[in-house]
Amino acid sequence: MTVGSAGDSGTADSRPTVYDLAPNCTRTDVEEGERYHAVVNGVVEYGVFVDLSDDVSGLVHESNLAGSYGVGDRLIVCLDEIRENGDLSFVEETLEEYRTVAVDHDPDVTPVSDLAIGDAVTIEGTVAQIKQTGGPTVFRVADESGIVACTAFEEAGVRAYPDVELDDVVRISGTVEKHDGAPQIEVDSLDALTGDVADAVRTRLEAGLTERAEPHAVEPLIEWPAFEKLRDDLEEVARQLRRTVLEGRPIRVRHHADGDGMCASLPVQLALERFIAEVHEDADAPRHLFKRLPSKAPFYEMEDVTRDLNFALEGRARHGQKLPLLLMLDNGSTEEDVPAYENLAHYDMPIVVVDHHHPDPEAVNPLLDAHVNPYLYDEDYRITTGMMCVELARMIDPTVTDELRHVPAVAGLSDRSKAEAMESYLDLAAETGYDRGDLERIGEALDYAAHWLKYSAGKTLVSDVLNVGCEDEGRHRELVEFLSTRAERDVDRQLAALEPHVEHERLANEAHLYRVDLDSFAHRFTYPAPGKTTGQLHDRKVTETGDPVITIGYGPDFAVLRSDGVRLDIPEMVAELNEEVVGGGVSGGGHLVVGSIKFVKGMRDEVIDSLVAKMADAELDEELSSTASLD
Ligand code: MN
Repeated sequence: MTVGSAGDSGTADSRPTVYDLAPNCTRTDVEEGERYHAVVNGVVEYGVFVDLSDDVSGLVHESNLAGSYGVGDRLIVCLDEIRENGDLSFVEETLEEYRTVAVDHDPDVTPVSDLAIGDAVTIEGTVAQIKQTGGPTVFRVADESGIVACTAFEEAGVRAYPDVELDDVVRISGTVEKHDGAPQIEVDSLDALTGDVADAVRTRLEAGLTERAEPHAVEPLIEWPAFEKLRDDLEEVARQLRRTVLEGRPIRVRHHADGDGMCASLPVQLALERFIAEVHEDADAPRHLFKRLPSKAPFYEMEDVTRDLNFALEGRARHGQKLPLLLMLDNGSTEEDVPAYENLAHYDMPIVVVDHHHPDPEAVNPLLDAHVNPYLYDEDYRITTGMMCVELARMIDPTVTDELRHVPAVAGLSDRSKAEAMESYLDLAAETGYDRGDLERIGEALDYAAHWLKYSAGKTLVSDVLNVGCEDEGRHRELVEFLSTRAERDVDRQLAALEPHVEHERLANEAHLYRVDLDSFAHRFTYPAPGKTTGQLHDRKVTETGDPVITIGYGPDFAVLRSDGVRLDIPEMVAELNEEVVGGGVSGGGHLVVGSIKFVKGMRDEVIDSLVAKMADAELDEELSSTASLD
């Protein structure tokens, strides 16, 4: 029963309580031993029949009556017994003093997951979306078991229940119908609940959601002590993402547009889309609630965040959606991301980051809802984002596991991870029929596809290349063969033109320095782009020399840096250059030993000379293989 506020309800009130039932109250609203206001509806030899509401009636036996009554008289009764046959028997009470408390009917509330087509039902939940169509208004309502669309019709194109807002707690009565294969409620009545009633529903929903948001307890695909440190935090992210889905909030993923970024985002996409479809019982729901987009830059650019924000605000205005949660993958943990995050902070958009680039936790963490990064646990980039996200995806929906066994190896090879776990990941991939060469070709094909996709997600193409959610294994194999061959050919062509123009010198610390003017001697606006071109050149030089190597590929206003065997701290060098080269406008960063910097065109020579001087001062690593190049 729902207790209202009639009468004096001071806490110190010691007077007995007499309940006054609303006319629609039923048997479920009364309890043995409680007192009620009653009206006589019939007089018989052995007593009187009384009504407590339209539905609740019973007998006061003559032996339990204190006075004599006619039809319509009022008295106070105590519910003595609910008999096995359902009859109610009452005893009259005579009270000098008492307080009256009004009782509203608690309807039989049906969980959204139990809705059956054709039933008349009442549901309670929070409003997750309010969409005005050309016909009815569609309210998407989330309870602890699922989300359902409820259609209310005022007039064609006119907003029904205009006072109801997103996140309100509502009680809706109506009939369950089938619409495009999914259950939908045609609304008879919709009430925004307030006060104690709303609080009670919120508490119930909260408990149910918390339980349902709990991630699946999955054992990692391989045993790996270093990874164990990240597991709790990844579970927390899985919990947060599941909860976001259960609340009907959209999710927008931004990922680094490279092999590891794809290996991170595709598994998470597959898991979240399955979970969204399950929660909404609607195969079409993921299309409206999930979006994945690549970021060309190694950080969250103002251009991307502005696009995302526009899209989110439009979604709210046109479709009545909540603003999305932003999930940054293989990107997003550096100081360069801060302006974009600050821009989002003006709106209700939670931000979650899973990345393995060298982070600036002091700068970004205050703006984030969660941040998982191996550097925060004294580990490093060798744990790639793809490796983390395969486990994250399995925590969200373990049914994806069989499709992901080869993915951590592709991620690791793409980012040239030197993790000890690579052997185990390669063995795992071998079980599903991929050898090392196959996996490397998948990585190259992904990278090539990412280059030409530019700002598009290319969902089916990327799924087919990575073989995650791909329906045709034969096509996957052919596509990888085709794309990786093209990629290799383009790299060879690029390096053939470039190599004669590479300048070599030996730095004071004995490291080899190779530099090349990409603007003059590389094919531009094609594959491979400057970052990859520099990386490929660098790899050849490392193999050729077997010594510590630094490679700089520069354009008019940028330089790409790669190093092996030299202890560089690129973020630190950028900060110093910015102070030392006055008017150089230096910015940038990346990993410690791999990165890119920008500067103003007219100061290029000064910036690069200062940069080289710093590199000549850097210490060499004792072991050449202890650092790796990485995109
Ligand atoms: Mn990566």
